[in-house]
Amino acid sequence: MTHPFLDLEPLSAAHFASIEDRVARLLSTRQDVVITQGEALLPLEGAIRGAAGPGTTALNVITGPYGQTFGDWLRDCGATVYDLAVPFHAAVTAAQVGEALAEHPEIDFVSLVHAEAATGNTNPVAEIGPVVREHGALFYLDAVASVGAEPVLPDAWGVDLCVIGAQKAMGGPAGVSAVSVSERAWARMAANPNAPRRSYLSLLDWKERWIDAGRTALLHAPAQLEMLGLEACVERIEAEGPAAVMARHASAAAATRAGVLALGGGLEPYVHEASDAAPVATTLRTPPGVDAARLVGRALAFDPSLPLAAGGGALASSMIRVNHYGAAANAVVVERCLTALRAAALPTV
Ligand SMILES: *Cc1c(COP(=O)(O)O)cnc(C)c1O
Repeated sequence: MTHPFLDLEPLSAAHFASIEDRVARLLSTRQDVVITQGEALLPLEGAIRGAAGPGTTALNVITGPYGQTFGDWLRDCGATVYDLAVPFHAAVTAAQVGEALAEHPEIDFVSLVHAEAATGNTNPVAEIGPVVREHGALFYLDAVASVGAEPVLPDAWGVDLCVIGAQKAMGGPAGVSAVSVSERAWARMAANPNAPRRSYLSLLDWKERWIDAGRTALLHAPAQLEMLGLEACVERIEAEGPAAVMARHASAAAATRAGVLALGGGLEPYVHEASDAAPVATTLRTPPGVDAARLVGRALAFDPSLPLAAGGGALASSMIRVNHYGAAANAVVVERCLTALRAAALPTV
């Protein structure tokens, strides 16, 4: 008997290339799109190690835990790093980025997270992009959590390295990701003696042995299941229409925010301004004395299938996440999440 996961035809180079082209269309980009065979941390780290070195001066914007990680990688590469940290309940502004660039004219690399699922905020990349381009710095963007939930437009925004993953709003598998790379970014990597080569982290390997070689022979055996999963989720987004998918995420987030305020009981949106709130996940703050992880545990006891989680690390006691990933971004799921949170928040008698 054939098994649906195991007895698959080999995935050809042409098929692999066609999935890359489909991802490029989703991002409306003419840049090279490299699909990476691993969770999004692979291209996120590969792009920094490829583009940054001891000669780099970076502005690293921190609006959540991923920004902190990027700063660590940049320092590890020998870069001089200026951190621009904003409170996790807000977003960075283009003016703040512009001021930081003016203060340190030698900055030639900017790293930014678009939306942070971990904190629930989203940054105005359409406004920040032109400021970075005007300064001339290379622009690195983590769009893992935003892609599928809101527009991600590397070409229009002047993003040089744009990393996406399939497992959040795209509703796809976690084991595959992609990065779009501008000509400027390839040139920066080619000139970087420390850029990884003959390494799983190397984007230049893919440039030289895959893209420049006409995409006819893969570097190693493709992660077939994940590639098919990625293809299927892009297909599903195309079928529904990207605008409709994004509108569904925006309504789910808006409904969660409005519903939580209507519930009462002290729960409130974690991100202060609705315009700074990400459509991929709505974060909530528990009132003093109410432990978020315990509240989520009780809510999940009512319905373990709900997309609820407590915040990570130090946020576990005070933050609840309502994830709007893929098919979960709809009014029915939001209502069930709010009902479960309400029931969990009621004092037990
Ligand atoms: C989810 C996410 C990633 C991917 O990391 P995992 O925690 O392994 O899923 C990267 N960047 C951002 C901003 C994310 O939200």
